[in-house]
Amino acid sequence: MVDTVIQAPLARRGLLFILSSPSGAGKSTIARMLLEQDGHIALSVSVTTRPPRPGEVDGQHYHFIDESEFHRLVEENALLEWAKVFGHYYGTPKAQVKQGLREGQDFLFDIDWQGTQQLYQRAEGDVVRVFILPPSLEELHRRLRSRNTDSEEVIAGRMARAQDEISHWDGYDFVVINDNVDNCFEKVRQILNSERMRRARQTGLIDYVRDLMNAPAP
Ligand code: ADP
Ligand code: 5GP
Repeated sequence: MVDTVIQAPLARRGLLFILSSPSGAGKSTIARMLLEQDGHIALSVSVTTRPPRPGEVDGQHYHFIDESEFHRLVEENALLEWAKVFGHYYGTPKAQVKQGLREGQDFLFDIDWQGTQQLYQRAEGDVVRVFILPPSLEELHRRLRSRNTDSEEVIAGRMARAQDEISHWDGYDFVVINDNVDNCFEKVRQILNSERMRRARQTGLIDYVRDLMNAPAP
């Protein structure tokens, strides 16, 4: 009979998994799939001064706050990073992330390149940066319109910024082209799982390997 030993998962430090892309390339879609299919990653819910879109839930997609509250959070140093995007403020509250990381919780960030730079400067070793590119600008435009959430004027503004956002591709560790959603998701999931296996993140390895080395040979 084969002796099967079921090993409990080793203790691990969590990671900060950043997905960025020009607006409309599909990062929210990929983020949603990750959150649904991976039980070990939680969304870092940002604060924003932008008004909710139809279907967006306060506290779930964003914490929707006004400008004076946002500036108060900045002054209190309560945000890990923040930026002004498309005329609205966005930021990452510190509180949820710090404790979770130590407990092995991974966090997903849907933030832009400015926030990515700030987060990297603050927590380089914990950060994994993934940039999602559209297959073409025509397809990006089509997706922005298909989302049915923004006026033509807002879409034109997002398109005008797209090439500027794309120019920040080299500030990321991984770049994935979202031509097909399922293929793109699979690649992003592989990146997440590989990064979880990094030696430095597997904090339980030291004891585990010590036990292996000290155990009597069978
Ligand atoms: P972002 O979060 O980057 O602004 P979304 O995830 O909201 O973008 O995607 C924009 C639109 O494009 C949505 O309607 C989404 O369903 C669609 N979409 C996302 N990925 C693909 C894809 N690979 N092929 C076709 N449509 C896509
Ligand atoms: P949207 O309004 O479409 O939800 O987001 C607009 C842009 O703001 C996206 O590029 C998104 O990644 C970015 N964003 C959302 N939350 C944050 C945040 O907390 N910090 C930063 N820096 N960018 C954010």
